[in-house]
Amino acid sequence: MIDTEQVRKDFPMYRNGGMYGDRPLHYLDNAATTFKPRQVIEASDRYYTDICANTKRGDYALAHDADVAYDESRETVARFINADPEEVVFTSGDTMGLNFVAYGLMPGLKKGDEIVLSWEEHASNALPWFRVAQITGASIKYVPLTEDGRITPENLKSVVNENTKVVALASISNVLGRPLPVRELARIAHSVGAVYVDDGAQSVPHSETDVRETDVDFLCFSGHKMLGPTGIGVMYGKRERLEGLEPLFYGGEMNARFDSSCSISLSDVPDRFEAGTQNMSGAMGLAEACRYIESIGFRNIRDHERKLKRMAVDGMLANGNAVLYNADSDTGIVTFNINGVFAQDAASYLGDRGVFVRSGTHCAKILPEFLKTQATVRASMYIYNDEDDVKALVEASRHAEDFLDVFFN
Ligand code: PMP
Repeated sequence: MIDTEQVRKDFPMYRNGGMYGDRPLHYLDNAATTFKPRQVIEASDRYYTDICANTKRGDYALAHDADVAYDESRETVARFINADPEEVVFTSGDTMGLNFVAYGLMPGLKKGDEIVLSWEEHASNALPWFRVAQITGASIKYVPLTEDGRITPENLKSVVNENTKVVALASISNVLGRPLPVRELARIAHSVGAVYVDDGAQSVPHSETDVRETDVDFLCFSGHKMLGPTGIGVMYGKRERLEGLEPLFYGGEMNARFDSSCSISLSDVPDRFEAGTQNMSGAMGLAEACRYIESIGFRNIRDHERKLKRMAVDGMLANGNAVLYNADSDTGIVTFNINGVFAQDAASYLGDRGVFVRSGTHCAKILPEFLKTQATVRASMYIYNDEDDVKALVEASRHAEDFLDVFFN
């Protein structure tokens, strides 16, 4: 069980007694980004206040301490996903990680090769592959979704063949919130010799991740969606996969050797992927976010989100004025539309009552073709959300047809 009242004491965003200005603060946009506990803020600040030196280059005590903190952060993050520290590359976020993977694999792709995505993918796991396909002549294929929007092993099997070189899927979609059977999907990709790329933006913050168990080749995620700072993320890669990946950026700190003949000799992984001064503060904050999540425990997180989700779904169904797109999914994402109200108008109406949700396509711009709607409203929960947040969502949704009041009051 999560004691949300206790948890909120760690989050400065709740310091005003759960108000945001003159509105109650019912923050339900956690799939976009999360609040940060003071432990994370303090851990990030420690870099600037106590050990502010560049890493991997100084021969003095202060630089050494910065090196140690950076290395320890990598070890903590690696442990969090059950990887080796050498397999963890710090990036600016999930988007950078996915671009790293797509462009890094590009030299091995050619006309006739196939990259498998789904209609649910976020722009960050679609556009890099589109671009790489344009450049190389490879083609994009989509796993068909089941009628209720699921990706199943059978459906993946129906699209892979000996031309499939990459399968790249979000393990939890940011719209429908359904967890994929990643291990089975990765096995199917491997059976045809394809690389399996897991976009973990929505899964890593909410469910235990074990890359040895799922056997994915790459996993990318962002710190800011898991209580960590913005501007830091991770590209995990199996060691042999990282060693075969072309770096996207070249520069200092990657420890490459070069001379006037212009030859380049790359260093070991992960250094070769970390060109330029790194986000040391962000890495320290992300490591603290991992520790904070571990102290809460994934079982508690899952039970808490499920309970709130169920409450929200039951309440919205009882309201009787909404279409729910993922009532049965296990995660804390509720995606819906209020009958006769455009999603953005509904979100403005809810926002006016302090219920902060997201509306639109949520960057998954192909999915509306499947959902047969232009836009949806999405409420997404995390550890500090409580029953009052859900009640406020349900109550405001009940009256959302009155959205014009927002503009004329
Ligand atoms: N993939 C998914 C499934 C996401 O939900 C998001 C963020 N909405 C991203 C990728 C991109 O993450 P970021 O903007 O942190 O790089």
